[in-house]
Amino acid sequence: MTFQATIQNEVRTVGVGLHSGNLVTMTLKPAPPNTGIVFVRTDLNGAYVKASIEHIDFSMLQLATTLRSGRALVQTTEHLLSAAMGSAIDNLIVELDGAEVPIMDGSATPFLMLLEEAGRREQAVAAQVLRVTKPFFFEKDGKKVWVTPASDMRVSYEIRFDHPLIQRQRKTLVVNAAAYSGQVAPARTFGFLRDLNYLRGQGLIKGGSVDNAIVLDSDHMLNESLRLKDEFVSHKILDMIGDLAMAGTRLEGHFQGYKAGHEMHALFLQALLENEDCYEMVRGDVAAESPVFATSMVEVPVPA
Ligand SMILES: [Zn+2]
Repeated sequence: MTFQATIQNEVRTVGVGLHSGNLVTMTLKPAPPNTGIVFVRTDLNGAYVKASIEHIDFSMLQLATTLRSGRALVQTTEHLLSAAMGSAIDNLIVELDGAEVPIMDGSATPFLMLLEEAGRREQAVAAQVLRVTKPFFFEKDGKKVWVTPASDMRVSYEIRFDHPLIQRQRKTLVVNAAAYSGQVAPARTFGFLRDLNYLRGQGLIKGGSVDNAIVLDSDHMLNESLRLKDEFVSHKILDMIGDLAMAGTRLEGHFQGYKAGHEMHALFLQALLENEDCYEMVRGDVAAESPVFATSMVEVPVPA
């Protein structure tokens, strides 16, 4: 039996919001079973929004995943949600005194460390698992996201960028605590200088810098070094795990992305959830977490 989990103790951090450039205080608190992950705006009298596919703001998916319910709008949720899924935390209250989860260093490691500091506590209620039973494909404008049945949660991703530091990168891993903390969490978000200058001109990403992103010009990076040799595709996996957390359950299946991004991840998940013949919901009866540090560079089969 696999049980739901929350955190043991309240923890807090302060960081810059990527878009506003303002400081945001974020407090993580334990939550009862079946709560899910709920963002609370303390600056808006406790207006809240749950991390769930129906609350994704599809008009704001270009740069990050935004949740909205009534007055409660929360931007840049994906790295924290990814860390929660990578830590198998099901229930969590996330208090914010602003509209953004702080960007920290652009990776999920600071959130993972915060969750580790808080401690993980199992709860006496079985975890809910969305188990994929049939392949499901989603394609749009040459971008693809798909899933096939698997005995655990695994993710594969392939990206292609005409840049000497990226070119084509592929990666596959089984999502367990060791693989997540070593191979996914440290990967920082990345962007191209030309896009960043344009976005700044639009009044966006005021908090963005080489302190919280890998910034690429036409053939170099402005940062000193990479953290992982495949840091770019690893960050796409980080983002995908965070966006798939909007299912509100644990996941069992092999999820794959090809040249995708937040919008594709969200559209895929929405379509998958509507195709109820492709999955079943099970309680507690999830395959045991693989004890093996299972990550490998295998070929990602791209559907025709
Ligand atoms: Zn990201």
